[in-house]
Amino acid sequence: MIKFFKFFFPGLILVLLFITSILPQINRKIAVKKARKIKVKTIELTQQERLNLLIRHEGVKDYFRVENDGLSMFASPQDKAAGNVETKIFFNEVGLFTNLINSLEPDSLFTLLAEKGITKFSDHGIKNPKVSPKKSEFENPISTPLEGIKIAIDPGHVGGGMKLAMLEGKYIKSVNSNGDTVEFNEGNLALLTSKLLASYLEPLGAEVMLTRHRLGETAFGKTFLEWLDQDFHHAIKSEQENGNIDKKTANYFLYKATPSIIYHRFFKGLDFKERAKKINEFNPDLSIVIHYNVDETNYFDRTRSRKIIYPTAENYSMVFVPGSFLTKELVEPRSRLEFLRLIFSDDLDKSLGLGEEIARQFNDHLKVNYVHPKKNLSYIKHTTKETPFEGVFSRNLVLTRLIRGPVCYGEPLCQDNILEIDALSAGEIDLNLLKGPKRVEEVATAYFNGILGYFGIVNQ
Ligand SMILES: [Zn+2]
Repeated sequence: MIKFFKFFFPGLILVLLFITSILPQINRKIAVKKARKIKVKTIELTQQERLNLLIRHEGVKDYFRVENDGLSMFASPQDKAAGNVETKIFFNEVGLFTNLINSLEPDSLFTLLAEKGITKFSDHGIKNPKVSPKKSEFENPISTPLEGIKIAIDPGHVGGGMKLAMLEGKYIKSVNSNGDTVEFNEGNLALLTSKLLASYLEPLGAEVMLTRHRLGETAFGKTFLEWLDQDFHHAIKSEQENGNIDKKTANYFLYKATPSIIYHRFFKGLDFKERAKKINEFNPDLSIVIHYNVDETNYFDRTRSRKIIYPTAENYSMVFVPGSFLTKELVEPRSRLEFLRLIFSDDLDKSLGLGEEIARQFNDHLKVNYVHPKKNLSYIKHTTKETPFEGVFSRNLVLTRLIRGPVCYGEPLCQDNILEIDALSAGEIDLNLLKGPKRVEEVATAYFNGILGYFGIVNQ
């Protein structure tokens, strides 16, 4: 009996050890059976192809120089002429640089770059920071294929009541096909679209963050009028302290400017930056910026005809991804930093992959044709760069520049199109008291399908 116990217990322990050692494998086998392969769609660009998309004006080339062992950046064309390098990224330290982007605040990263100048990161003992890079290929459960994926959605503009929408200039007041006057605004449509999109993504396991949540709410979590009342003076003071505005401008805003002028010339810029900041702090796998377009010529006619916009037969869709810098757009240090990020990271490659999927959904699912790249629209002509994909353009908007990671800025349709006016002024949807037209459901579905396409998942 004693002999039995002598061997039984050690034996039992061995058996238990064996079982626990193979358990993970058994678990993995079960998991694999139920898993779905996720592969992020990326358009692998060479560094030269990225540069081609990033440069819209020749003058941009006066800010950098590609050398044998790296790329030198200059603070101004004068500095380039004088050979004063602001910073240099060595090709054999690109991985380290992109990791630093993901681990440091933009200001401290810029200071670091300026301090090291033409020396290497390694000369200063700067080591690879511990960042967990976003995976491009992984497996997830069939029922929750977006598990672990973080998605940021920015509902464009502010909206709210018509008075506020008119102040921000993003509203439609028009006539529907019955001859009735109708009105709606872009900020509210964007918010409803964003909430619907979030409601499709979350059940699949995605963690979704919206930059604003209520009608009329700005990225600061309050309406513009609340901000004007509570934060305006402080904001003027801190912008003045940071050297972004001078005393004369500050006094103009404080004592002379109307709310509308304050909104357009001061507040809007801060609101954009706040949106980008919120998104970058969330550190998403991808970001979607939601807008609705108006036909440009039709829009210009509006001011001449008492703010009523007449329906147009025009309708077209497009998406914007980063790139297409104009000469003056590298004056700010922050812009040069983002320019370097876009050259060396794969943010642009992935943005193109995402953009292509979403643009195709606008064209196919919404039945709004891709805008023709030669169409006579001033912003297409003067500020964008054609990409290899229909409906996808590089454009250096504040948000395509400041948001890190893959980003797609969508313009699915023209709100002033004769058919869209009818569709967008209807009010069939009620999402937790947020009312709106059924057409936004189709738009949200187009974005949803596009996002699934980006992850290689087919929506059934
Ligand atoms: Zn817009």
